Amino acid sequence: MTENEVRQKIIDLCLQMNATGLNQGTSGNISARFEGDMLITPSGIAYDQLVPDDIARMPLNDDSSDWRGPCKPSSEWGFHKAILKAKPAINAIVHTHSMYATIVSIARNHIPACHYMIAAFGGNSVVCADYETFGTPALSVSILRAMENRTACLLANHGMIAGGRDLDNAMWAAVELETLSKMFYHAKLAGGMVVLPDDEMERVIERFKHYGQVQKPKA
Ligand code: 13P
Ligand code: ZN
Repeated sequence: MTENEVRQKIIDLCLQMNATGLNQGTSGNISARFEGDMLITPSGIAYDQLVPDDIARMPLNDDSSDWRGPCKPSSEWGFHKAILKAKPAINAIVHTHSMYATIVSIARNHIPACHYMIAAFGGNSVVCADYETFGTPALSVSILRAMENRTACLLANHGMIAGGRDLDNAMWAAVELETLSKMFYHAKLAGGMVVLPDDEMERVIERFKHYGQVQKPKA
């Protein structure tokens, strides 16, 4: 994809996450790795006002707040940068205040293996990161801790983060995490849950490696 195509794709996914009800207003942000830099949504601009040039470009080889572009980057550029730097397999990140993930984060619950799909995020739970003020370096530290061996986490009293190998995969992960949060919330209300044991989750994680359309070897 060209840089302009990635910029447009970020805007398309922002519009999609609001149209589907995953997110509302400007309470969310999306980033993607591009040629060693990060492309990220600007702060506090309605998504339907965005044009590709408004997406900010930031270097990933430092910890500075430097950006290129006409608009100030998302207030959460710090954790997007920290995740992309720490996790080379993650190339795109979706952050939303989606309803059920945020409710679970307000209760400060980790989501256990109440459904095998928890394995899609790399482990036997999705961890709720300790509360820190939005946009701070302390929030990045708590997120990296919660995302150890994971590609997603909840943010206490705030929302969720999902990473992926590309923008579509990150959005897929965000929708899956919201679905799991909804299942967890309702299972609690319905009287509780049976959590899958660790050895079963290890089997699921192994099976996930071969799930879907694996690349056919070249003849
Ligand atoms: P931005 O509009 O600055 O991206 O902030 C939204 C948000 O989710 C803050 O946590
Ligand atoms: Zn937020």
